[in-house]
Amino acid sequence: MIPVSDALDRLFSRTPTLPVEEIPLIAANGRVLARAVSATRNQPPFSASAMDGYAVVAAAPGDRFKVIGEAAAGTRFDGSVGPGEAVRIFTGAPVPQGASRIVIQEDVTRDGDVITVTEGLDKGPHIRAEGGDFRVGQSIDAPVRLTPALVALLASMNVARVPVTRRPEVAILSTGDELVMPGEVPGPDQIIASNTFGLHALLRDLGARPRLLPLARDDEASLRTAFDLAQGADLVVTIGGASVGDHDLVGKVAGDLGMDRAFYKVAMRPGKPLMAGTLNGAMMIGLPGNPVSAMVCGHVFVAPVIRAMLGLPRAQALRKQTVLAQSQPANGPREHYMRARLTENGILPDQRQDSSLLSVLGLSDALLVRPPHDPARDAGDPVEYIPL
Ligand code: AMP
Ligand code: MG
Repeated sequence: MIPVSDALDRLFSRTPTLPVEEIPLIAANGRVLARAVSATRNQPPFSASAMDGYAVVAAAPGDRFKVIGEAAAGTRFDGSVGPGEAVRIFTGAPVPQGASRIVIQEDVTRDGDVITVTEGLDKGPHIRAEGGDFRVGQSIDAPVRLTPALVALLASMNVARVPVTRRPEVAILSTGDELVMPGEVPGPDQIIASNTFGLHALLRDLGARPRLLPLARDDEASLRTAFDLAQGADLVVTIGGASVGDHDLVGKVAGDLGMDRAFYKVAMRPGKPLMAGTLNGAMMIGLPGNPVSAMVCGHVFVAPVIRAMLGLPRAQALRKQTVLAQSQPANGPREHYMRARLTENGILPDQRQDSSLLSVLGLSDALLVRPPHDPARDAGDPVEYIPL
């Protein structure tokens, strides 16, 4: 058994960063920017009015101005403004030459071509400076996962095609004679493949392209066929069949097919029988079948590997600090990822930590991390957790 951090390092040493592809901006949300991109223009490209009103040189209550023209968003006033003159202006329009402030329309009365500034005039100037948002050469640094706000910024920078890391192709191979697909009628000794769908969802959220292979039976021929179907994937995630029972054939078949094993068995709970290696140029992670084990290993190992493939920093799953809401007994030799809820008083691990209980995982919003041999802890003691 190796520690979790060792297992993760061994995985990272085999994880390629995937190549860059250019995609349309409309598809960029959630993708990982692969190269810094720079603005090729200033925004705004001219000093612009921030309000509807009148552009003038200067203004004080009681001042009168003759309105000499109009500037609208998209159409500037050709000419300049002098003392005693005003240009009717709207939000987003270029500020005419000579003007140094906008008097908002609420602060004037208008009579034909003449406006008079009322009492209570604000300070203004209601002008957005040229390049006030960004200037030519200003960049968005990579790598970063693109958010709706960054997509808007890219658009504003006139970046129509975005260099991003290719999405990892992930084949999900579940094995077990007892498994049927959701929607099927299970036989009396059968159950529904569940974590298969949980991992598919997790991988989608991470920005990968997961693909479900047909359920494999617990025999070598069926597993070999399933591995054949995984061809072309960057990562093959197997579920089940990875421990040492008579029916646990994933390691054997993968070995026969030439898997170069990185490790087998990690000192963690849940999830000890975790296997990883390289097979036909693809990475392989063999998860235990127990539904919660598979999901926890998904967060602890699969997610960091996907992020690394996408070019994001090679780091363990994000951990945060809080305090214990309830005292906890000493932990054993394996790192324990306890299904827990965040409360006002700190983190509260569920009473039931069996690795088959999806109903407990479903109500958890955190995994409390107990390091190996962590001594007994009191309520209020600082602890780390992985947000779910
Ligand atoms: P295994 O790792 O194959 O020994 O499976 C451990 C436990 O997880 C057994 O109770 C299996 O029935 C169950 N299991 C295996 N694969 C899945 C799956 N894809 N969905 C739900 N349960 C599973
Ligand atoms: Mg099995």
